[in-house]
Amino acid sequence: MSVVDAPVLETPIPEIDDVDIDEQNGSTPREITNPLAELSLGPHKVVHAFWLAGMSCDGCSIAAVGATQPPVEALVNGTIPGVPKVVLHHPVLDVEAGEAFMHPYELAARGELDAPFVIIFEGSVADETITAQTGGYWSGLGAREVDGEMQPIPTAEWLERMSKHAAAVIALGTCATWGGIPAAANNVTNSMGVMDFLPPDYRSTLGLPVVNIPGCAPVGDNFTETVAAVLLFLQGLGPLPAFDELGRPAWLFDETVHRGCTRAGFYEEGTFAEEYGDKECLVEIGCWGPVVQCNINKRGALNHVGGCMNIGAPCIGCTMPGFPDSFAPFYQTPPGTIVSSTASKTHGSIIRALRANTQFFQNRTNRWEKQGHIPDGWGHVREPNVVEKIGHYFYEKIQFMNSKKPGA
Ligand code: SF4
Repeated sequence: MSVVDAPVLETPIPEIDDVDIDEQNGSTPREITNPLAELSLGPHKVVHAFWLAGMSCDGCSIAAVGATQPPVEALVNGTIPGVPKVVLHHPVLDVEAGEAFMHPYELAARGELDAPFVIIFEGSVADETITAQTGGYWSGLGAREVDGEMQPIPTAEWLERMSKHAAAVIALGTCATWGGIPAAANNVTNSMGVMDFLPPDYRSTLGLPVVNIPGCAPVGDNFTETVAAVLLFLQGLGPLPAFDELGRPAWLFDETVHRGCTRAGFYEEGTFAEEYGDKECLVEIGCWGPVVQCNINKRGALNHVGGCMNIGAPCIGCTMPGFPDSFAPFYQTPPGTIVSSTASKTHGSIIRALRANTQFFQNRTNRWEKQGHIPDGWGHVREPNVVEKIGHYFYEKIQFMNSKKPGA
């Protein structure tokens, strides 16, 4: 790091102790229709999207470019009906470099861009007042001359300046939304999410608080779908999408990952994996899925392929504001499981036996039933015993209580 003075940000960085938790995490969604919104709805021919990366691993960029519904290519080519063409400014993907790349950022920060723009922030926002004490920066974009030397401009400063003129600020990934791994306990950067960095009453020119799309990395489709929905609203062609009280797209984060898990049937029947690679429910080897709001099992990670539990990894809560500290230690049984998995095992032992009996009879044709044996060359299938037959007789009585049994 350099020893020259870094610029001081206008907005004081909130200390963790100063944050009003009730205000930040209240259960009532905030009013998101701002009568003072400066930006009128479209149609707009183009909308600029400025990518800013704070304390980030770039995984959110990878997730975004892997999206398929819609793909980033459809957004930048303007091929989605009603959605304006997106001019993407991305530090890695852009073909421009140097001054030519930074010029639109400067125009946006000054409020002089000739089209609306959105900010997409990846990574957490580090406390640049710490680095300002000795010079240098935590994360930066572009450079300027300070005391005769070229010095990087902190990304936090771009966020602060540009957010005043942005139609929407989208925090992408858990670091940008809630702070994530860089904001874990005992970190030296005082990192935080975008909504912690901006003033609590922040509203974009469209009247929106910060839009949060968490995940480490997030599902790319969650991002592009939300961007497309916000742009349709900006065009005046669609309603404002529904966001929950934490600014998450409500339709994507209102269910637990457990409800969409391919292993949920094992949980219900009380059978659990004992080690990695087992096919059953992963709750006893550290899965927090029953309480974590995420849709990755339903949607897949990239191109509808993958997703944590689909590929055998327990959920460690990466979409949640409490991640990572509240989900530590990873890969150990969550305490709540003592109650829930014990209950599942108890009722599952009965349910599994009853279902096995039903399955036994449903694996037989009418012909086999009449002839009393199964002409199978693959192996011997036993005949039901008297107790099983009596049980099935009453099962069918209930099954056809209100209708006629076929062939009867
Ligand atoms: Fe639920 Fe996790 Fe088990 Fe899937 S693996 S059923 S998410 S507890």
